[in-house]
Parts: sequence; C-alpha cells; structure tokens
Amino acid sequence: APALPRPTETRIITIANQKGGVGKTTSTVNLAAALAMRGLGVLVIDMDPQGNASTALAVDHREGTPSSYELLMWEQAAEDLMQKSPHAERLFCIPATIDLAGSEIELVGLDYRERRLAEVLDKDDLASLGIDYVFIDCPPSLGLLTVNAMVAAHEVLIPIQCEYYALEGVGQLLRNVELIQQHLNPSLDISTIMLTMYDGRTKLAEQVAGEVRNHFGDRVLKTVIPRSVKVSEAPGFGMTILQYDAGSRGALAYLDAARELNGRDPRFGGDEDQTPDAD
Ligand code: ADP
Ligand code: MG
Repeated sequence: APALPRPTETRIITIANQKGGVGKTTSTVNLAAALAMRGLGVLVIDMDPQGNASTALAVDHREGTPSSYELLMWEQAAEDLMQKSPHAERLFCIPATIDLAGSEIELVGLDYRERRLAEVLDKDDLASLGIDYVFIDCPPSLGLLTVNAMVAAHEVLIPIQCEYYALEGVGQLLRNVELIQQHLNPSLDISTIMLTMYDGRTKLAEQVAGEVRNHFGDRVLKTVIPRSVKVSEAPGFGMTILQYDAGSRGALAYLDAARELNGRDPRFGGDEDQTPDAD
C-alpha cells in the first residue's frame, strides 16, 4: 500500500473510555500499526498497568523493564524508554509494567500530578525523533493516569462498542473532558469517535451506530470496525491483526480507519477525508 502523507506536526491522541472492553487497546495498537506500516513514525505509550498494548506490539514489559512508570515519575525521557516494535520500521512503544499499578496512588502525593506526562512529552522533541503520532492507551478508569493522558494530548479518540449500553458512561466521560478543557488543557479536542465490534447481522449494532452518529456527527469515523474473532486472537500471538491476517476484514477496516484519521487533522482544519482505497 502507498505511504500516507505525514501530518505537519506530531499529533498526540489519547484513546479513552472508562468502560473496559470497548476496544481501546485493540484500536490503539491496530491504528498505530496501520499508520506505521504506511510509512509514518508512531509511538504508543501504554498507560494501562495490564500492559495489553505492549503485548500486542511484542515489546518487553516484564517487571523492572523501563516503562511508562519511569516516564511519569520523570526518571527518564521518552526517547530512552521507547522500544522498537518488530511489526514496523518506525513503530515504537513505551511499555507498561506492573510498576504502573501503584502509580494512581503515588501520583497523588506528587507536584504537578495531573501534568506529569504533558511536561515530559513537552521536553521531548518528538518531531526530531521522526514521530508523527503518539497514541496513549488508557486504563478503564477516569483516574490520574487517564487525566495525565488527556492533559498531555491534543486529541481524544473515544472507541464505542456497538452493543447494549454503548453510550452508558459516555456522558460522564464527556463531562470529564470538559473539566480538563476548563482547568488543565484548553486545547483538548474530542476529535474522533470510533465504532468498534460492529456486528452487521444485528439490528442493534445498526441502531447504536445510528444513535452515535446522530449525537457526534462527523467526528465519527465513516469506517466501522467489524466484530471478528481474528481481531481478538491476534494479541495472543504478540501481533496486531495486520500481522496476524493482513487480508482479513478487521485488518482492512483498521487500515481504512487509519487513513481516514490521518486525513483529518483538526488542528489544521484538515477534513481532507480521502476516498476509499482502490487496493
Ligand atoms: P479495552 O482496551 O477497551 O479494555 P480491548 O481492546 O482490550 O478493550 O478489547 C476487549 C476485548 O474485545 C479483547 O478481548 C479484544 O480482543 C476484543 N476485541 C476488540 N476488538 C474486537 C473486534 N473488532 N472483534 C472482536 N473482538 C474484539
Ligand atoms: Mg485496554
């Protein structure tokens, strides 16, 4: 597939939804891999102590490995913590280890507790490292790790599962984003809503997708991620769906979603959504 155009500045995108199991990690690693496989430089910061993104990107995240914990504690710069993922030439990950599990509590006692990630990323010259995208994968909560991710980001991407109770909790998430915009990061933009685990055989999935599109308009990516067993199998092999089965529906959907995301850079008024791929 042809290389994608590079964004004019590094885009920092936080993937958040306090509900677990909606596809945050899956969307993070697959979008990251898709963009990196099309020639862009991508860094994934794993902010979930479970380390699922680190697993899918096949980077070391055993206890004691330098990780996002050291990043938050200002012990090391991103440049020194990122590991190369074997999945693409310019795909990197700062892994999460079990050390991160205690940090919600440790952060409470620190200065700048909401801004620690923002401060350290500000100091890093991500552009000179060739990083076009930073994706921050959040844990399923609205605690300090997620707050740090939102304060550090330009954009929030919210995955929404096309199932019962899809919108449950989304109101609370939006109110939290508003608070962060008011007090901590005025330029934070909910740029992207992504529909995941869409089962075209059910009326329900269609209804949920319609409801989400009514509510969020063109922030919702046109591309919908289908529910597919293969997508869920890939991490067990230390892969994203793009390595596991590059021709599958899930892989093609994530490639489309990545291209669509790259075509819309809200900071530069870009809604240059491109027409679907011919390949
Ligand atoms: P979160 O990070 O929001 O908790 P995950 O990305 O870990 O959610 O996804 C939750 C579960 O659903 C995982 O087991 C994952 O493999 C599976 N899953 C995610 N996306 C899909 C999909 N498109 N089709 C089928 N299973 C999926
Ligand atoms: Mg996750």
